[in-house]
Amino acid sequence: MTGLCNENFIYNNLINGQWTESASGDVITITSPADGSFVGKIQAISKEEVDEIVRYSKAGQSQWAAVPIYEKAAILYKAAALLEERKEEISDILMMEIAKDKKSSVSEVKRTVDFLRFTADAGKSLEGIAVSGENFPGGSRNKMSYIKRIPLGTVLAISPFNYPINLSASKIAPALMGGNAVILKPATQGAISALHLVKVLQDAGLPAGVIQTVTGKGSEIGDYIVTHHGIDFINFTGSTEVGRHISQISCMTPLLLELGGKDAALVLEDADLEYAADNIVEGAFSYSGQRCTAVKRIITTDKVADQLVTMLKARIEKLSVGDPRNSAVVTPLIDQKAADFAVFLTQDAIDKGAELIVGNKREGNLVYPTLLDKVTVDMEIAWKEPFSPILPIIRVKNMDEAVEIANRSEYGLQSSVFTKDINKAFLIAEKLEVGTVQINNKTERGPDHFPFLGVKASGMGTQGVRYSIEAMTRPKAVTINVT
Ligand code: NAD
Repeated sequence: MTGLCNENFIYNNLINGQWTESASGDVITITSPADGSFVGKIQAISKEEVDEIVRYSKAGQSQWAAVPIYEKAAILYKAAALLEERKEEISDILMMEIAKDKKSSVSEVKRTVDFLRFTADAGKSLEGIAVSGENFPGGSRNKMSYIKRIPLGTVLAISPFNYPINLSASKIAPALMGGNAVILKPATQGAISALHLVKVLQDAGLPAGVIQTVTGKGSEIGDYIVTHHGIDFINFTGSTEVGRHISQISCMTPLLLELGGKDAALVLEDADLEYAADNIVEGAFSYSGQRCTAVKRIITTDKVADQLVTMLKARIEKLSVGDPRNSAVVTPLIDQKAADFAVFLTQDAIDKGAELIVGNKREGNLVYPTLLDKVTVDMEIAWKEPFSPILPIIRVKNMDEAVEIANRSEYGLQSSVFTKDINKAFLIAEKLEVGTVQINNKTERGPDHFPFLGVKASGMGTQGVRYSIEAMTRPKAVTINVT
């Protein structure tokens, strides 16, 4: 038996309660996007090992389903306490592995601690219902159905690089409270942080086979595990491209997809512009814009655009840029491909006539916060998700046109409306084709018990503590007939 990792920082997978090296002998080296330093190595697991893991999961799940809910909750409370204790160590790893500044890394861990506790509470308060037959025409009160929620079986949780701890936990904890076993497949960059979370859950007392991990090459095991007949539910967060692919190949396995976004901030002429500028800059540039709910475009009218641009520019110029260890807000992007894409989008916009207000500077994978004004609908940045610190401003004639352009996006995650007139905000919110409208706030996920969902190419299904438990359980009805 080996531990989470050995003295050379080669990390193992948790398989049936044991941290296990892959028989493939293949490892993947993880270096920091911050400075290229070594973070660790992860195992590249084989298809045969995936088969084994799925088998152990079946056995683990049937035992776990029988554990009383209050005992399940007790394990999550213990995990929350352990994670809190290890906050410093784990947030340091997170900071280097994905180049997220220390403050945000700590806050991701803290939020996960709260999430574990809240989900344990929510799991305990789940109740079934009873329905009488007499409610339907011709029915009888001698017929009664009691309906409770039961687990789906094995949940495959696939998480993205940008919140490897929080977005893994937000799938794992509700799945566990619903009585499922979980196989976690984290993103390669972020896998080490996610494995630390799983170690916490193991140390808190989760039995063997209830939580297991799969790290490796997406090209080798990605499609294999997604199409595995032993998987009962896929809970995926990541890009729309990969989400679409998974939904095409997964056949009849039910899915929950949280995908990309192109969140718009609509700034009305009566908005408190100083407040909107503060809020939008935070929403667009924190963690270098590598957030699904980052503000990814501003839509406003000429009447306020010039003033807003001046305010945004002043704030953007004050953003700290550089090393996550120095608490920079804008840090190097996750890889070179991401930085190349950011540069391409900016250049395409400038070539087609957008006005560069600030930014368009690159050092390695560090892309400086960039503001582009007078972006038009023929430019790529008007529609593509940059996942980098680039903020385009689209000027429109009026708010009808703003709503039309906001809705023309293939995405539908969130939108913001900034105005002092709640009536206008209400009417616009009704028209926006998104999962959530934020009135007078940047687009963002949370608090975590709120429903979180994307429509159109932004996803399928709803997350959020109670919603996630419901998504990963199904109703079972037992109908009693009094004879
Ligand atoms: P990605 O789609 O590249 O990868 C996501 C996960 O899918 C990773 O674990 C990856 O290894 C895995 N994967 C890739 N191919 C696979 C395959 N064939 N089978 C199984 N798994 C496979 O996304 P990313 O770059 O890690 O994350 C950024 C994207 O995620 C952005 O588009 C962002 O908007 C989105 N995101 C969405 C939300 C949301 O809640 N809507 C939250 C965070 C990130």
